[in-house]
Amino acid sequence: MMMRAAVLKGPENIEIEDVEIENPRDNEVLVKIEYAGVCASDLDPFLHPLPETLPMVLGHEGSGVVEKVGENVRNLTPGDKVILFAWSSCGKCYHCNQGKEYVCTRAMRSAFSGEMLDGTKRIRSKNGLSIGSFFSQGSFAEKAIVNERAVVRVNEKAPLSILSPLGCGFSTGIGAVFNVAKVEPGSTVAVFGCGGVGLSAIAAASSIGTEIIAVDINDDALKKAEKVGAEHTVNPNESDPVKYIRDLTKEKKGADYSFDFVGLPKTLNQALKSTTFGGSVVLTGVSPPGTKAELDMISILWGRKIIGNVEGYVRPKIDIPRYVDMYMRGVLNLDPIVAKVYSDLNDVKKALEAIKNNKVVGKQVIKIA
Ligand SMILES: [Zn+2]
Ligand SMILES: [Zn+2]
Repeated sequence: MMMRAAVLKGPENIEIEDVEIENPRDNEVLVKIEYAGVCASDLDPFLHPLPETLPMVLGHEGSGVVEKVGENVRNLTPGDKVILFAWSSCGKCYHCNQGKEYVCTRAMRSAFSGEMLDGTKRIRSKNGLSIGSFFSQGSFAEKAIVNERAVVRVNEKAPLSILSPLGCGFSTGIGAVFNVAKVEPGSTVAVFGCGGVGLSAIAAASSIGTEIIAVDINDDALKKAEKVGAEHTVNPNESDPVKYIRDLTKEKKGADYSFDFVGLPKTLNQALKSTTFGGSVVLTGVSPPGTKAELDMISILWGRKIIGNVEGYVRPKIDIPRYVDMYMRGVLNLDPIVAKVYSDLNDVKKALEAIKNNKVVGKQVIKIA
């Protein structure tokens, strides 16, 4: 089948072109894409693509309708409304068998190589050149072939223009609260970094009645944080967030849970020092490999935990439908996080430039069909 796709060919070189997509193979599903969220992880290959992965279709927060299913797909049928999870876990490796699909090493390898789990690709150019799919998804295109384990059927009435980012960013933030930290209702939560992921964590924490302190150097991000449920905000360029949080929390001297969505040694230290004895710090922000943080070891000894978060430890088929239903019930306020919905595939480049130049607070979504 022919389709339009946004194909990355070299650094900052995306071309919209007609390409050929195969039929889905065993355990795979062909999905007609309606919306795709733009995640900061798309920016990395856009700016610094690995030559061996090119050409590649970016996009890993797609959603739409099932068009065709391959052999052995039993739980999905054409017409199902679906959100595509970014992580195509294999279901067979040591980590998947432990129920820790979020650290499936096969998913990790294929995500960045642009290959499907079996190491092959599903898209070709008109000249027969093989084209990869970022995160084994490639949803900046009219159609995508995805492993069934990452295809999540959701409520038929779910507005995909808002909920498509549950495929990665939103779920990473919500899962940080519910799955990684297991935040208790009514506790105090500090969130460092109020981009799309941090804001979705705030929305999740707010849904269970916590006291939320949002920290960001951008006042517009802090305003959005208030809209999704932050009670207090602090800009580190104006006052010391550690002192602010310790003073605010009185005898606790710190939040019960702190979240670092920035991923700098400085923010990790601030998050640690803003956490009460026995509390938890969740690290989600991505730093370049080899980045070292200096931490006061005694401050960890006082019962504090530092926990790494990838994809919110989300079990896609269980958690994503729940998040959708929470949104539909009006308790998970994700609306203010969607900053812009673009109307055409051509706008992918514009959206990535906006992230690169820090021109956007919250989430951008591309309408594809
Ligand atoms: Zn992502
Ligand atoms: Zn696995």
